[in-house]
Amino acid sequence: MSETATPAVEGWFTTGAEPALIGTKCQSCGTISFPRETTFCKNPSCSGEEFADTELSRRGTVWSYTDAQYQPPPPYIPSSDPYVPFALAAVELPEGLVILGQVADGYGVDDLKVGNTVELVVEPLYTDETGVRTTWRWKPVAAAVQESQS
Ligand SMILES: [Zn+2]
Repeated sequence: MSETATPAVEGWFTTGAEPALIGTKCQSCGTISFPRETTFCKNPSCSGEEFADTELSRRGTVWSYTDAQYQPPPPYIPSSDPYVPFALAAVELPEGLVILGQVADGYGVDDLKVGNTVELVVEPLYTDETGVRTTWRWKPVAAAVQESQS
């Protein structure tokens, strides 16, 4: 049991070979939200209160990126002390959402360019008494293609 990898935050993404973020879709107007919505629809002109889980697209385009000089808000959990800056990407999905995430291990701002395609991957974030805890990250697709060809 100590060797199982589990999400650092429950219910935010699926795991497996093709992980995907889990959002919700308003049953009244179809607005998609991430993180999942459980109370009121984000659409101000909709009074929908019923939502169904939906998996978001695994690929999106880089909308913005930065070196994180400050510790991000939850569900980020610091894996090092003192804090070490890393690359963060804001990625626009076909659903119209912009999802912030760390860039995959081994990549930095030099690998990112606005408009480039990135793909969701799930990587270890830290290890606690239950084993490895994972989170989602954005991986530049050009690099992913190169790896699968080698
Ligand atoms: Zn709605």
